[in-house]
Amino acid sequence: MPDPDDVASTLAEWRQNLGRPSILATQSERRADAERIARKAVAALEAVLKLHTPRQSVVRHICKRHGAGIGTTRTMTAAEWRDEVDACPDCIKQPTTICAHCENIRICDDEWPCPTCVAITTTLTRGGGDD
Ligand SMILES: [Zn+2]
Ligand SMILES: [Zn+2]
Repeated sequence: MPDPDDVASTLAEWRQNLGRPSILATQSERRADAERIARKAVAALEAVLKLHTPRQSVVRHICKRHGAGIGTTRTMTAAEWRDEVDACPDCIKQPTTICAHCENIRICDDEWPCPTCVAITTTLTRGGGDD
């Protein structure tokens, strides 16, 4: 597992190299360096986006009658409760798109795109890229 501090310092180094290449480096050395950085950056982004993919899911809006759940209805098992909720016209099941990764780590249960994808997309589409 790479150290997050190492990642931060690698990114800082890349940023510096791209912004102010060494005056000692030749034109082709600078270009090779920039290409190396770009390839790694693209690979890193792809690795992140591979985790954050949309997945179809269902949100349940449980009605008042079933909202109390299993705890208060001791005679009802979890399976029985689920069957009742499925059959209940007041309990609404709504299809939704969630992030397959963020759902796992409980950041964003019921939204797509997730904050990670929004952050990446916003940065990539902002234009410029040298701030
Ligand atoms: Zn219900
Ligand atoms: Zn996500």
